[in-house]
Amino acid sequence: MNFDFTDEQKLLAESVRRFAQAELAEGALARAHDPRFPFDVAKLMSRQGLMGISLPEADGGQGGTLTDAVIAIEQVAAVCPRSADVVQFGNFGAIRTFAEYGTPQQKQRWLPRLLSGEAVMSLGMSEPEAGSAVTDLVTSARADGNGYVLNGTKVFSTFSPEAEVFLVYVRYGPGVGGIGSVLVERATKGFEIGPPQEFMSGEQWCELHFDDCRIPSDNVLLGPGGFKKQMSGFNVERLGNTARSLAFGRYCFERAREYAAERHQFGRPLAEFQGLQWKFADMAIKLESAQLLLYRAAANADKGLPSAYETAVAKAACNQTGFEVAHEAVQIMGAAGYSKSSLVEYCMRRCRGWMIAGGSVEMLKNRIAEHVFERRFDQRPPKAKPSEAAE
Ligand SMILES: Cc1cc2nc3c(=O)[nH]c(=O)nc-3n(C[C@H](O)[C@H](O)[C@H](O)COP(=O)(O)OP(=O)(O)OC[C@H]3O[C@@H](n4cnc5c(N)ncnc54)[C@H](O)[C@@H]3O)c2cc1C
Repeated sequence: MNFDFTDEQKLLAESVRRFAQAELAEGALARAHDPRFPFDVAKLMSRQGLMGISLPEADGGQGGTLTDAVIAIEQVAAVCPRSADVVQFGNFGAIRTFAEYGTPQQKQRWLPRLLSGEAVMSLGMSEPEAGSAVTDLVTSARADGNGYVLNGTKVFSTFSPEAEVFLVYVRYGPGVGGIGSVLVERATKGFEIGPPQEFMSGEQWCELHFDDCRIPSDNVLLGPGGFKKQMSGFNVERLGNTARSLAFGRYCFERAREYAAERHQFGRPLAEFQGLQWKFADMAIKLESAQLLLYRAAANADKGLPSAYETAVAKAACNQTGFEVAHEAVQIMGAAGYSKSSLVEYCMRRCRGWMIAGGSVEMLKNRIAEHVFERRFDQRPPKAKPSEAAE
């Protein structure tokens, strides 16, 4: 067992940190409070080789590993938390599922713009009546001539105010086997994008309405039966959200540590009060343990052994740790931490969202419990027995 980075990983971490300090440190606060996708940062990152780190070189990626992409998120977030969203988008977001299952023509059409930081893609999965119960989705794709006609509504999609193309989960037929996905361009007739609404984090999302929206067959990403593939892609995608939670927690830990060393009350630095020292000890324990779970999930996925259980454990631990540490950092920094002139309150708000997004902590714990008991727990109400149904 080896708990160290390889020499290449150390070099990568150093070079990304140098890049972030040189290019992203200035303006980090303003970026956090700007809801628009930072295309300028995306273009910079593309030139730096930070988009598509783990995508194949044939697709315009860097041919690296998921662990490399996790390292990039950590190093960028340590300097400019908001810019870590760009690493997420370019490496873990819908782009991964797209690169894995897209046809050569689809990839040729969209990947170059996505990887160069000129365009962004949004994932339309959640619906008003299908959140955690994603297989309840009703947005339909009906075959019609040489294309499909879409009807339905999607909610909460990150990047939807600016996305050029949307990866939309649709229903071709009944049951889980009837679910797949299509690609819809922003300007498609019958596709209406509602006004921006705001999360607690300041991020914006728009309702997506499909009203007899016709797309060509060439825009099918995954046909009926594609749901399992989508979910296995999504499982890896979760590692980006996991890495950002932890990295934001660590960012807050560092700011609180610096503050406690310098800020004096009652004639001594805050760091000398045992009540605060123990907070730091607890924060360090949480961060260190969640970090190992994240690296285990990423490293095993890189070895070709992705595990939904390991990812669920890592995401639940990092989501909780990120939020708890950020929350505690706000407390340690008092009004300075609670103020919008520090990024600590921003990180706390962002971490709160990741406990809901991409598999809520409760849904992850359901998955973990299934591993513990080696059986499936159906979340749906038991079906009435035939004798009861007849009554
Ligand atoms: C910041 C952010 C970004 C997002 N980005 C996107 C995006 O890009 N694309 C997209 O499609 N969606 C996105 N979402 C939506 C996200 O996928 C959903 O919020 C998530 O699936 C939960 O669905 P819901 O909010 O409808 O909550 P619900 O499913 O209604 O759940 C409400 C509460 O009940 C709990 N719960 C539900 N079922 C169970 C159960 N069986 N056992 C125990 N607890 C349960 C949940 O954990 C939650 O706490 C985003 C959400 C957030 C917060």
